[in-house]
Amino acid sequence: MVTVDVLIIGGGPHALTIASLLSSPNTEPRPNDPAQSSWCSDSTKPTPDKRCCSVKRKKGKTKNDGLVSPQLSLLVVDSYGEWTTLWESQFTALSIPHLRSHTLVHTDPLNKHALQEFILKTDRSAELHRLQDQVYILDENAFFSDMRLGKKEKKRLNVTSSLKKSLSFSLPGTTLSVDFFKDQVRWVYNLDKVMLKGTVENIIPVVKDAGSIKQVKHFKVQLQDGTILQAKRVVIATGPSRAQMANIPSWVKNIGEAYPEERLQHTVELMHYLSKSKQTQTEVVPSKVCEKGHRVMVVGGGLTSKMNVPSLITVQVSEAVWCYKNQVWSLSLSTGDHWTGDKIWLATGCKLDVNQDPLLSGVMKEFPVQVIDGWPCITEGLQWAEGCPLYLMGQYTALQVGPHAVNLAGGQAASVRIAKDIRQQKNPADPRNGEKSKTEDYIQHMHGLLWL
Ligand SMILES: Cc1cc2nc3c(=O)[nH]c(=O)nc-3n(C[C@H](O)[C@H](O)[C@H](O)COP(=O)(O)OP(=O)(O)OC[C@H]3O[C@@H](n4cnc5c(N)ncnc54)[C@H](O)[C@@H]3O)c2cc1C
Repeated sequence: MVTVDVLIIGGGPHALTIASLLSSPNTEPRPNDPAQSSWCSDSTKPTPDKRCCSVKRKKGKTKNDGLVSPQLSLLVVDSYGEWTTLWESQFTALSIPHLRSHTLVHTDPLNKHALQEFILKTDRSAELHRLQDQVYILDENAFFSDMRLGKKEKKRLNVTSSLKKSLSFSLPGTTLSVDFFKDQVRWVYNLDKVMLKGTVENIIPVVKDAGSIKQVKHFKVQLQDGTILQAKRVVIATGPSRAQMANIPSWVKNIGEAYPEERLQHTVELMHYLSKSKQTQTEVVPSKVCEKGHRVMVVGGGLTSKMNVPSLITVQVSEAVWCYKNQVWSLSLSTGDHWTGDKIWLATGCKLDVNQDPLLSGVMKEFPVQVIDGWPCITEGLQWAEGCPLYLMGQYTALQVGPHAVNLAGGQAASVRIAKDIRQQKNPADPRNGEKSKTEDYIQHMHGLLWL
């Protein structure tokens, strides 16, 4: 059996960022040059840059010309077998017109201006959305609360005149972002060929005897269809919307009666709807949040509920009973009230707890780590533990990467750390492995993180 150097689980934006970086092992991320980030504001010409200009949008002329990496063999496995398909599915399902992050936050780890250049190349600046002209911050705990500011500071915060001109602070449209990802996969890094369709069920660390320190020889990665893959290193980039990790309240588990599946659903199913329809080659019709005239209860008050319903009240459900005769739900609420209706949407999010994640049970057993409120205490290089080269991306890395870990900016930050760690382990003599100061690292990660 062939053992790949790196196996990435997941094909979303985070996986795309790290795969791009690992497939270009001899290229350093371009240092952030704040002066360059304003190129859009005064002209439509991209900043001359030798490396990004050499990226031709012609078949066979990619950065990764026919070779994934001269040093690392790389494989990506995703349930849908396509890059960033879940991203597209969730934005369509929730009818989100544009990203909430700006154009400097994206998936190309080697070119900060890649998205802006793509917009100009394809003449699609009309698909950029402007940030609100005025931003008010009224959180009483926030340092910059508008309530605490004097006139001068308020003026400074509402920097409309200069920002209006700067496309750097524009929000890309949904279709634009998807087309950018596709362009990056196909023409810039040539990554379609490393993609394998499959759902990982189990990750088993095979340990070698290396004296007192436990050391993984390789990982056995088992797919749903029984296939076993072998990898020296594994990167988990499975994202925040895994149906397997959907948060199901206890009152749902206590429902005794059988009820029609479509009458009680979790919003995570909505997010996967489009991708699943494509896979089963069924006609892709827009998913229905509810039927006309239906009385709907949305439980949970997070992001997805706000995107689906205009107004919300906050109550807790104590009990749910399905009435077979009338085909309706009867809910007992914490207020003592009762609700009768046709459909329940659980907008209760997904669990964030490595202890409950079946993908991580094998490594947790062999390499137990401290877990704080569901977050694992992993290394600075985002490795699970010393001797266990399993790397994490996304929300699980929040203790190292910070609160933006789940966002595109978190993917950028995580991929730099992981690639550096892998490079160091693979080639300790590489002069580029010289220690960068922590401050330098933080400054690099903080660039472009405004307005996430
Ligand atoms: C509605 C919404 C809007 C968002 N908007 C923004 C935004 O504007 N800006 C921003 O910065 N962030 C945004 N985010 C946050 C974040 O950037 C996205 O969630 C993003 O999709 C995360 O990328 P990812 O690669 O970690 O996960 P995903 O995009 O969820 O991709 C994970 C992939 O892993 C695969 N997978 C999962 N489990 C397995 C398995 N066991 N085996 C094989 N494959 C598996 C899935 O099929 C999927 O393709 C948004 C999130 C949501 C939910």
